[in-house]
Amino acid sequence: MVVGGGAAGLSAALFLGRAGRSTLVFDGGKSRIFSVEEVWRAPPSGHARAALCDPAHREHLGFDGMPTAAFMAQARAEAVRYGADIRSEHVYSIVPRKDGLFWVEATGSRVAARTIVLATGVIDDLPPLSGLPEAWGRDVRVCPCFDGYEVRGKRFVVFGLPERLAHMASWVWMWSRDVTIVSRHSFNEADAERLRLLDINIISDEITGLVHRDGKLVGVSTASGGGEIACDATWIAAEIRAASGLAASLCEVDEIGLARTDKDGRTSRSGVFAVGNADNAVAHLAHASAAGTAVGPVVTMYLLEQILAERRNTKAA
Ligand SMILES: Cc1cc2nc3c(=O)[nH]c(=O)nc-3n(C[C@H](O)[C@H](O)[C@H](O)COP(=O)(O)OP(=O)(O)OC[C@H]3O[C@@H](n4cnc5c(N)ncnc54)[C@H](O)[C@@H]3O)c2cc1C
Repeated sequence: MVVGGGAAGLSAALFLGRAGRSTLVFDGGKSRIFSVEEVWRAPPSGHARAALCDPAHREHLGFDGMPTAAFMAQARAEAVRYGADIRSEHVYSIVPRKDGLFWVEATGSRVAARTIVLATGVIDDLPPLSGLPEAWGRDVRVCPCFDGYEVRGKRFVVFGLPERLAHMASWVWMWSRDVTIVSRHSFNEADAERLRLLDINIISDEITGLVHRDGKLVGVSTASGGGEIACDATWIAAEIRAASGLAASLCEVDEIGLARTDKDGRTSRSGVFAVGNADNAVAHLAHASAAGTAVGPVVTMYLLEQILAERRNTKAA
């Protein structure tokens, strides 16, 4: 059984279906990749739709520019073609049984499963900033790997978690030489030197909102005297955490609740596997798909060993 119908979960389901395994996928929400799509579908008031970035995900070889919705629909259709039963249900509890199986409780189903593949992803904890939810994934960007190219050479403002600011600002600097951090944080000597060497500006202030004119981001407003800092793109160093507490209830997890796994996706609990962002916060779509594919043979081999053990017991009886 797979929990999570993003790239990682669907990829695992595709493999397991093609291996003739009965595969149930519970997907109780939306993949993180839909962040961009949602903004496009419901632009903040006053925004011209044409001014928004298109809802395509990028940075995925072979799928460049493909609309997110089309990509996910195709992935789901492929998993279904090989027998995956995808249910739009949230899994709220998985309890190991004495016989080695698991009771899985979802919003509309209670099923027994031999194996669990956690592909539940991560969520981004955004600060309560005016206009931020609407601008998330478009004017407030999360990683230059995904869309730094689209704003290369523009004026960047970086804000967010103090401990990640120096890293984020110097990372996005690779895409533009015009980078300003807005934060009241006092950087340690090592970080301050790094920022100095790259000529990254630091403005000691607090961002209160985003400023748009004619549907275009033109700056950020700040707390000090209602000031405004001009920019073309903002980057947020945001907190990321596991989207689900299921891993923490079943196996060893790290400090943000992601399953600790070996290189093949095995967790500390026999029969439970984790893939994609569920065990690797920085996995992109390509990594997530690859992890789902890689865990498929491992789960299949685990099931084979179970069948062999059962047959051994039956023959011995
Ligand atoms: C703004 C933005 C832009 C991005 N752009 C790109 C890009 O251009 N290229 C790229 O490669 N990557 C991009 N990414 C990263 C991409 O979103 C992730 O790499 C990818 O979504 C990880 O796939 P996943 O399957 O591990 O997790 P997800 O896609 O997040 O899927 C997890 C699924 O599990 C479901 N789920 C969670 N808990 C439960 C539960 N208890 N029960 C049932 N279902 C559950 C969720 O609802 C979700 O559908 C971007 C991310 C963001 C935020």
